[in-house]
Amino acid sequence: MACTFCQIANGSIPSKFVHSDERVIAFRDIRPQAPTHILVCPRQHVDSLWELEDELLAGQLLSVCARVAREAGLEQGWRLIANTREHAGQEVQHLHLHVLGGRPLGRMLSG
Ligand code: AMP
Ligand code: ZN
Repeated sequence: MACTFCQIANGSIPSKFVHSDERVIAFRDIRPQAPTHILVCPRQHVDSLWELEDELLAGQLLSVCARVAREAGLEQGWRLIANTREHAGQEVQHLHLHVLGGRPLGRMLSG
């Protein structure tokens, strides 16, 4: 099994979790794009948000994102990103949500 985030979830790649429960883990991105850059993902393999059908799990993932942002002290604001499939440049094919903050992030959408 070659999925990096499955290996992180099952402990075969040692990793320090900033959150861990039965269904969801969170850990720091190895190439941080901001002072806080945390990845939140399901323990169970799901390729991307496109394939996510479990609505309870969707809520749990979102809830962990908000919790790790609060715990990281991101009261000035933060951003959630889910790169999904080719056009979004998804590199790791295991669903993960990026929690970014700790600096002004600029606007991504204008108009
Ligand atoms: P993307 O699939 O484009 O949403 O991005 C994948 C993210 O995973 C990138 O920001 C990588 O830096 C990050 N990443 C890849 N491998 C690891 C790893 N072993 N531990 C932590 N972060 C990783
Ligand atoms: Zn996986």
